[in-house]
Amino acid sequence: MSKKKVVVSACLLGEICRYDGKIKKVDKVLKLYKEYEIIPFCPEAPLFGTPRERINMVKIDGENRIITDIGNIDVTKLLEDEIYSFIEKNQNIDAIVLKSKSPSCGLGTTPIVDKNRQIIGYGDGIATKFFKKYHKTIEIKDEMLL
Ligand code: SF4
Repeated sequence: MSKKKVVVSACLLGEICRYDGKIKKVDKVLKLYKEYEIIPFCPEAPLFGTPRERINMVKIDGENRIITDIGNIDVTKLLEDEIYSFIEKNQNIDAIVLKSKSPSCGLGTTPIVDKNRQIIGYGDGIATKFFKKYHKTIEIKDEMLL
């Protein structure tokens, strides 16, 4: 019988893909899902490299956009395309574990800021929104909920 599959934010697996190049491995992910086939997921590193400029979820005219911190470039569409492409290629999955607080992967923990970078709330990252939309029956967790 084939193994169940879990999509995991790659940084939780120890991959050096975070914007600051630091490691954020969470050992219990591998322990809890040792019977699963693990599918690493990181939409930012393939697009922008590692290390890279930080990105933020910025509320602009009532809409959450993903904007680079210094260059002020809107990379929302780039990320949406990358995430959608991943979801299309990985449709048969059984679980999703994402990294908290990230503009891409956060699960209700992503800071939403205004144009002056002041936090005005918290929400789902851009990838989390897509996973919720296309995998409605799968429970999504972050590393803090494991
Ligand atoms: S939180 Fe998501 S986008 Fe950020 S480094 Fe980890 S896997 Fe990549």
